[in-house]
Amino acid sequence: MTPAETKAVAVKGYATHSEEAKFAPFEFTRREVGAHDILIDIEYAGICHSDIHQAKNEWKDAMPTNYPLVPGHEIVGRVSQVGDAVTKFEVGDIAGIGCFIDSCRECANCKNGQEQFCLKGSAFTYNGTEMDRVTKTYGGYADKYVIDENYALKVKADGDLSGIAPLLCAGITTYSPLKRFKVGPGQKVGIVGLGGLGHMGVKIAKAMGAEITIFSTSPSKEADAKALGADHFVVTRDPENLVPLTGTFNMILDTVSADHDVNQYLNLLGVGGAMVVVGVPPSPNQIHAMSLIFGNKTFSGSLIGGIPETQEMLDFCAEHNITSEVEVIKPDYIETAYDRTIKADVRYRFVIDIKNA
Ligand code: NAP
Ligand code: ZN
Ligand code: ZN
Repeated sequence: MTPAETKAVAVKGYATHSEEAKFAPFEFTRREVGAHDILIDIEYAGICHSDIHQAKNEWKDAMPTNYPLVPGHEIVGRVSQVGDAVTKFEVGDIAGIGCFIDSCRECANCKNGQEQFCLKGSAFTYNGTEMDRVTKTYGGYADKYVIDENYALKVKADGDLSGIAPLLCAGITTYSPLKRFKVGPGQKVGIVGLGGLGHMGVKIAKAMGAEITIFSTSPSKEADAKALGADHFVVTRDPENLVPLTGTFNMILDTVSADHDVNQYLNLLGVGGAMVVVGVPPSPNQIHAMSLIFGNKTFSGSLIGGIPETQEMLDFCAEHNITSEVEVIKPDYIETAYDRTIKADVRYRFVIDIKNA
């Protein structure tokens, strides 16, 4: 059938066609709006470093990139159409989409609200397929998305939505482990890397009541770190700066996107402390057993969050007036934004203005 016969939705997006290619306008279709679906007119899409890793096929061993690639899993916009059976959204509502758009809904993890770990494999927002395992998914660097209402998030916001988009990945990725490790008053939390994830981590950990130290390679970010809510700022280029902090942290959240040594941070944990990795550098890390044994330490990972927890995070951020610090860009700036993000020159999230593209 032709797109016209199926009422498929025509979409204008921005794609890259190979590891080295530049982004260019790309037209494609999404499925017809079904009974349980909503159509979202996208207003803003954040640029997550995961978009960059995948555009450049840096995770080729674990998650190879299927080109053409339309990245974008920090999506916010307005509902412009609802299917007949939709109950959660009305036309005009603000809605968000994060890193996945569907899952099997039947396995233990889906039933437990951890759809990102669907045992049959979640349908990722881009560089994946729908649950039919055939229809390719394209992300939010585009003007429309069709999604089942149960996989879209409700957003409470007035006015400008640009600072909301990054909550859909950077927000939940930091909120989930901070909450799981019971960060709160009296706890010393370290955050490694002050980029998109790191700056959301500071804001959220601050709202949870923790004492926060930022570990950064960029001395120029100190004033921003303090303004965002950090209590201390440590420049990691000189490893000597870490020595006085040995054995003092309850939790350290590592958001770094590039290869680096995690052992120096394990040394900073106190007895029973936990280091949680959320950054995904291209190469594996080596950890000596001694780094964990001395101090009963935990080395852990965390992947985004399920739909219930993502909604909880959005509500938490609305309650605490937390949004992302953003630099709003036009689509023709995506390449430059990628280059600047790789150089750690992002303050603190690039967000594409899709509404006025
Ligand atoms: P980002 O905005 O680029 O921030 C990363 C920060 O890491 C940089 O701003 C920089 O902070 C620091 N950094 C960069 N290169 C470094 C190096 N060579 N050595 C030490 N520090 C360095 O990236 P992001 O969007 O926050 O994403 C961070 C990572 O998390 C990426 O790998 C991404 O794929 C991953 N991620 C994971 C999940 C998940 O669910 N687990 C979700 C989203 C993203 P300073 O200037 O302060 O040093
Ligand atoms: Zn992301
Ligand atoms: Zn499942």
